[in-house]
Amino acid sequence: MDFRVPDEIRAYLAELDDFIEREIAPLEREHNQYFDHRREWARTLWEEDGRPNPEWEALLAEMRRRADAAGHLRFALPKELGGRGGSNLAMAMIREHLAARGLGLHNDLQNESSVVGNFPTVHMLQAYGTAEQKAAFVEGMITGGVRMAFGLTEPDHGSDATWLETTAVRDGDAWLLNGQKRFNTGLHHATHDMIFARTSGDPGSPRGITCFIVPTDTPGFRVDFMWWTFNMPSDHAEVTLEDVRVPNSAILHQEGEGLVCAQHFVHENRIRQAASGVGAAQYCIDEAVAYARERKTWGKPLALNQAIQFPLAELHTECEMVRNLVYKTAWHLDQEHHMQVSDQVSMANYRANRLVCEAADRAMQVHGGLGYTRHKPFEHIYRHHRRYRITEGSEEIQIRKVAGHLFGFVGGRG
Ligand SMILES: Cc1cc2nc3c(=O)[nH]c(=O)nc-3n(C[C@H](O)[C@H](O)[C@H](O)COP(=O)(O)OP(=O)(O)OC[C@H]3O[C@@H](n4cnc5c(N)ncnc54)[C@H](O)[C@@H]3O)c2cc1C
Repeated sequence: MDFRVPDEIRAYLAELDDFIEREIAPLEREHNQYFDHRREWARTLWEEDGRPNPEWEALLAEMRRRADAAGHLRFALPKELGGRGGSNLAMAMIREHLAARGLGLHNDLQNESSVVGNFPTVHMLQAYGTAEQKAAFVEGMITGGVRMAFGLTEPDHGSDATWLETTAVRDGDAWLLNGQKRFNTGLHHATHDMIFARTSGDPGSPRGITCFIVPTDTPGFRVDFMWWTFNMPSDHAEVTLEDVRVPNSAILHQEGEGLVCAQHFVHENRIRQAASGVGAAQYCIDEAVAYARERKTWGKPLALNQAIQFPLAELHTECEMVRNLVYKTAWHLDQEHHMQVSDQVSMANYRANRLVCEAADRAMQVHGGLGYTRHKPFEHIYRHHRRYRITEGSEEIQIRKVAGHLFGFVGGRG
């Protein structure tokens, strides 16, 4: 067993740092209003339903363009898509490293854009799309010409997505879709939406749900409003589908097997999310330690108080434990089928999401009144990462999975 960070990953992290300093940091300094205390104000069109400001998104697009030109954006994509086929372990270490640098254009939290892209829907298309679908969508999804949203959650069904009520019925050689979607992210500018709809089977059955790639300009497809969220801007839409007609060729994968596509990337996504949580938590801890050493109360450094030291030492310990679980799980994901380590992915994910929220909260506390201001990044880090305790498999749903394996209801012992 060798616990050292592999030399090639260490070298690549240095290469990334160099690229960020040369090509991204100057751009960030030039547009500082998106990163300093004005960040949410500058990024948000408050009078237009809280949508993202297009100038802010153009800056993110320029960051991605530079990262692509330098050969970083596609790191985790397969070679046939211009990527390097980066491993799960490498991606975990990269995402941790980028988050540990703190807020910045290199790794934006609100938009989930990074110099090293994640691309969950590209992986879905690559795995399950027809040749025509891949040709039509994949390259555009990487470079930004095609913006694909993911519509699974509904007003009455989130965690219990298998109970969804959106339906699709055959109409000649086409399908008619009716229903509603909630928190459908990216709908302020999405060109397409992956809509999950029941085509057969009973409520609660994972079989019988089909994924349709629906152009958002199809008649009957309507964005009703954006939900204003804890972090702003918001691109999390309420969507209504009324007799939305799409051809049979809009189906991704097979009729009735849509949830297989949705499941495909979940494990890789969750371990990357966990790695970012570890990196952001370490950033909060390090910043709090540095401040406590420098700030004086009663004429001596704040850091001399055990009431300041102990919570940070405990968080630092927790961070080290979760980091090791994240690395180990990512390594297993590279060796085995993802379903074999499904419970470990859940463990790493919920503990890392919880950890970063606690670390951001503690950093605010150690910084006193300053910690509560927007001139420090902790409130932004907290508000963003708090989301992952609810979305993409909430904390309870992850724990439920761990319990399922522990008690033998699911997995090998079931
Ligand atoms: C910012 C944001 C972005 C999002 N983006 C998308 C997107 O792009 N596409 C998309 O499809 N969805 C998206 N979602 C929706 C997200 O996936 C759901 O909010 C999430 O799955 C939880 O569903 P729910 O809100 O309906 O909560 P519910 O399912 O109603 O659950 C409520 C609470 O009860 C808990 N709970 C539920 N069932 C159980 C149980 N059996 N045992 C114990 N506890 C339980 C949950 O963990 C949760 O804490 C987004 C949400 C947010 C906030």
